[in-house]
Amino acid sequence: MQSRSLLSLSSRARFAATMQANRLLSISHVVGGVLLLAFAPSCVRAATVETSNFRVTAETRQMAGQIALLAEDLRLQLANDWLGNELPNWEHVCIVRVDTTAERMTGSTTFEFTDAGVRGWRMSLRGPLVRIVESLLPHEIAHTILATHFRRAVPRWADEGIALMAEDELDRRRVRAMVKSSFASGRLLPIETLLDTDEYPADKQQLRLLYSQSASLTEFLLISGRRSFLKFVAAGMEHDWTVAIRQVYGFASLDECEQHWHAWEQSGRPEYSLAGNTMLADAVRNSDARRSPNTQRETRSSDSVLAAMTAEDGRPRKIATASSGGAE
Ligand SMILES: [Zn+2]
Repeated sequence: MQSRSLLSLSSRARFAATMQANRLLSISHVVGGVLLLAFAPSCVRAATVETSNFRVTAETRQMAGQIALLAEDLRLQLANDWLGNELPNWEHVCIVRVDTTAERMTGSTTFEFTDAGVRGWRMSLRGPLVRIVESLLPHEIAHTILATHFRRAVPRWADEGIALMAEDELDRRRVRAMVKSSFASGRLLPIETLLDTDEYPADKQQLRLLYSQSASLTEFLLISGRRSFLKFVAAGMEHDWTVAIRQVYGFASLDECEQHWHAWEQSGRPEYSLAGNTMLADAVRNSDARRSPNTQRETRSSDSVLAAMTAEDGRPRKIATASSGGAE
């Protein structure tokens, strides 16, 4: 719900401000003359705090404690947002390592599926503290919510698509730029390839496409809401994507879905109205049919301008690297 999100956003902002203030306090304390501290091996100092579901190790006890509480808060909020209910506590806590000395933002979460559920949670969060709090932690927590819900490996595109949506506005704008750049390049992964990708590609360009197209397809399908989205992912995992896209969204084929998805993205993400039980396919068919030829020409024209700008720039910008780097 929006009120929860707003509450969480403000608590994240407050937390970041508090940590920033404490950090300044700590620096001034050292500068203030406690010279012995200068000889202390501060780089190896760490403190661990445990809550119901997280055991966080960070530079200070206060930082570890606040990140653990924030992780609990995000776990609660994201589960409510996506699943409509809270998750029971995990049997084993998630071990979280925080390293705020890393310049490049990277995050990862590993776990294993067993008959008894998911276990062996380990999360690594590296980068500037404010980015960890605002974006990286919510991204990684989203992965844990999905793993707990599905109790099996979630298709990469859906896993990353949802996790990217949990990031803050700054990173979401970067993802949007990456999506635009990918669509302007015209070198896109076919929808079948995207849906069937199990592993992260080693090739950076392919990795960028995986992230950007995952974000775009996820947002397109979310026009029908989160419940339909999870139903589609479950049906695709269980049976077949072609059957799932017909049953859940009403598209005749994956190709038809891809065609309307690309048109939606390339025409600036128009809003579709889904009254009552209207299926996404019907809504977009009607909307695309109503769109005037002039509008379509303008879209193609602006796309080619964007393509020209991208070509001028040469290789894609670092935006993509930062985004994929922070979102493994
Ligand atoms: Zn991720």
